Amino acid sequence: MEENVTIDRALEILSEYPLLSKTEEIPLFEAHNRISARQMISLVDNPPFDNSSIDGWAVIASDDPNKRVEISSIFAGDKTPPPLSSGDAFRIMTGAPIPKNADALVMVEDGINGQARNNFIRFKGENISKGEIALKQSSLLTPASLALLASVGHSTVSVFTKPIVSIIPTGNELISPGKELLDGQIYESNSITLSTLVKRAGAIPSVVDSIKDELNDLRDTLDYCASTSDLIITSGGVSMGDRDYIRKLLIEEGTPLFWKVKMRPGGPPIFGIWKDTPIIGLPGNPVSSYVVFLNLIVPWLSHPDLFYKKIRAHLQSQLKGAPEKTTFRRIKIESKDQLFASTHTHQGSGNIKSMVAHDALSILPPNTNGEVGDIIDALWLFD
Ligand code: AMP
Ligand code: MG
Repeated sequence: MEENVTIDRALEILSEYPLLSKTEEIPLFEAHNRISARQMISLVDNPPFDNSSIDGWAVIASDDPNKRVEISSIFAGDKTPPPLSSGDAFRIMTGAPIPKNADALVMVEDGINGQARNNFIRFKGENISKGEIALKQSSLLTPASLALLASVGHSTVSVFTKPIVSIIPTGNELISPGKELLDGQIYESNSITLSTLVKRAGAIPSVVDSIKDELNDLRDTLDYCASTSDLIITSGGVSMGDRDYIRKLLIEEGTPLFWKVKMRPGGPPIFGIWKDTPIIGLPGNPVSSYVVFLNLIVPWLSHPDLFYKKIRAHLQSQLKGAPEKTTFRRIKIESKDQLFASTHTHQGSGNIKSMVAHDALSILPPNTNGEVGDIIDALWLFD
């Protein structure tokens, strides 16, 4: 087991246990926000034929503009018309095929004797040609990329099958919201965060009721989840406490691969294999588990474009970094003439309100504080 790894090293180890491996072919209409499993090739030229981008007339550029005679009309959906004779003009609508020898178009607004221009012709294959790559493997299927696939002839797309992800909150102190809070208890809130994030990642969450810090119950739950899911995410119990049993179980009875990552918040995650199933143990603090999910699980399980955009912003508040650790302070981005970042609440990793009051995370390199006026890297989170 490696200890105190960098984020890059953690991602490298995770990538050796790919979660996106099975594939399925699905209709484009069901594929929004899925990830393409294969490179997609254009089946046709797009556009498939030279056509008009305007309503107007198709003409021969060298003819005298004052002697043009309209002889008939061409509509979108018509077959390619016969060639023009000198002096003739075809009335043409947007999307209609252009006669073979017409080399210019006149806008309807300019009248039949108006200026003829060739930049109104959309040439066959000018967007993408047959056999060209339309979409790379592992692309996020957005409305635009789905439209591109449709326009080059695909009705279905091969995508990665949604992994099933078990989510196990752990801790004696946890009680479900809606119940009465007794002395020493707190409301359990990580499972809602994690299941929502798993859903957004394009996977299928399966949330288990919170488990007490008790070795046998935890072991049984891990066994059950290993047999029913592709990935297990736990929260709590991975740090240095005497009842941090997820760590203890994975190290003593599973195959641990790394423990502790050089990041703040979220230092103590543990990763390994339990009964052939990958398991990642997240720290229990609500901000920590969220931040670890974004940084370690998103690139492994999903596509970053579903979660954040990497930006650079001008700091307006001071940010405290950490020795040897990348620091993800919560910041609020304001988009004016440039992007500005500031903090508005205290930054404790137990304060989930800080994830609500802010919408981005600083990426402060190890041993670096952020000073007012610095330009820093950040992850601008989507809602
Ligand atoms: P742990 O990682 O188990 O040491 O927990 C760290 C902190 O996070 C403790 O204050 C826990 O009470 C809190 N915590 C652990 N799990 C959850 C949870 N599911 N929801 C909210 N807070 C939690
Ligand atoms: Mg605990």
